[in-house]
Amino acid sequence: MKITIIGGGPGGYEAAIYAAKKGAEVVVVEKDKVGGTCLNRGCIPTKAFLASYDALEAVETAKNFGITVGEAEIDYPAIVARKNKVMTSLVKGIEYLFKANNVTLINGFGKLLDAHTVEVTKEDGSTETVSTDYIILATGSVPTCPPVFNVDRKRVITSDEILDFEEAPESLILVGGGVIGCEIGQFLSKMGTQVTVVEALPRIMATMDEDVSKQISRQFKKEKIKVIAGDGIAEVNPAEDHVDVKLASGKELSAAYCLVAIGRAPYTTGLGLENAGVEMAERGRVAVNENLRTNVENIYAIGDIISSAQLAHVATKEGFIAVDNIMGANKKATYHAVPGCVFTNPQLASVGTLEWQLQKEGKEPGKDYRTGSFDFKGLGKAQASGHLTGFVKVIVDMNDVLIGAEIVGAGASDMLQVFS
Ligand code: FAD
Repeated sequence: MKITIIGGGPGGYEAAIYAAKKGAEVVVVEKDKVGGTCLNRGCIPTKAFLASYDALEAVETAKNFGITVGEAEIDYPAIVARKNKVMTSLVKGIEYLFKANNVTLINGFGKLLDAHTVEVTKEDGSTETVSTDYIILATGSVPTCPPVFNVDRKRVITSDEILDFEEAPESLILVGGGVIGCEIGQFLSKMGTQVTVVEALPRIMATMDEDVSKQISRQFKKEKIKVIAGDGIAEVNPAEDHVDVKLASGKELSAAYCLVAIGRAPYTTGLGLENAGVEMAERGRVAVNENLRTNVENIYAIGDIISSAQLAHVATKEGFIAVDNIMGANKKATYHAVPGCVFTNPQLASVGTLEWQLQKEGKEPGKDYRTGSFDFKGLGKAQASGHLTGFVKVIVDMNDVLIGAEIVGAGASDMLQVFS
């Protein structure tokens, strides 16, 4: 059985190794570096940056723990170099695993010619045609950049560009107070950038409950990160050495750079889906059934190109399910307990159905569900470790069945797994 996977991100590369271990002949077509967005432009570089935030925070607060250290100095190029080193070693690790498991990696742009043929265009312009029994589409996503933002990738940038800056910018207007915006904004602010977050919704981190948003807003205020919520972008005008931004309210802002982090769009450009007759779902996503199969019998799709949450571990899990189904299983993708973490300070973590979602469905506390929360301040361990900010919130149905949980605070992403 031969499986060809287009895209070597956490969906594609994990599926490849898993399928190879199960005895399939596997080909991965990747136009860039293996590891995808996650390793090269997403989770890993941002988490490497945030590790530098944590190191600086530890030095700055050392005196609270009876430790005297000299004044901390930021060596931004060294932070970027460390981030690059981490990424390079992880990419090499995947290449090694491909070799060890006999996964064939073809570097180039993959396009479906029909349901059983993939054409790969390589960097030198030459092409190679791969005939295959099954195809897994795992081409991921790219930053959403509507024309109004004038993204020129020089003054108006996305998360892709900021990762390779040699110095932290002097000032930054960050459009979008979601996960990516909050993580990057808090890191850069700590590095000395004057950050202004503009969020169209009434609060930042609006995908979580209001009490969670409040905690991160409070911390942003403490760190002098300006948040303008409930306002949209009317105009973005990049100039030679700065960018001017006009908000829907008429307010005018100016900064060295503007970073647009309003979401990510599935990337299927040039993939030739029409040649194989693959149907699309809403907003440019590839339509799949609960087995992650497209409308074409032998073609599956996983990760950021389908309608599930755009998270690395979701892409990976979907890859495993697709491979199992190709091999004859009848596994269904279920999403009632997907953990999601935001690696800000304090960390934010959630799983399952949250209170705002229940309320949106017209459900009432005490009648349809109950919540319980515990503040870290009341916990001896939190007092001892000095991490007092945060709480654990648990949401149960009226039969005491756990349906959701949220944690704010140090170690939230680790603790969340108990609830998942
Ligand atoms: P991708 O990782 O996007 O990989 C797709 C691959 O396909 C790419 O390598 C691309 O080059 C390749 N490709 C595309 N088209 C073709 C083609 N036609 N031919 C050949 N190759 C092609 N998620 C988390 O879970 N935790 C986090 O902390 C986290 N942080 C993030 C931070 C940032 C700044 C960003 C941007 C994302 C973050 N994410 C995080 C999301 C995570 O990166 C994605 O959900 C995940 O990478 C999706 O995996 P994927 O395999 O579907 O696609």
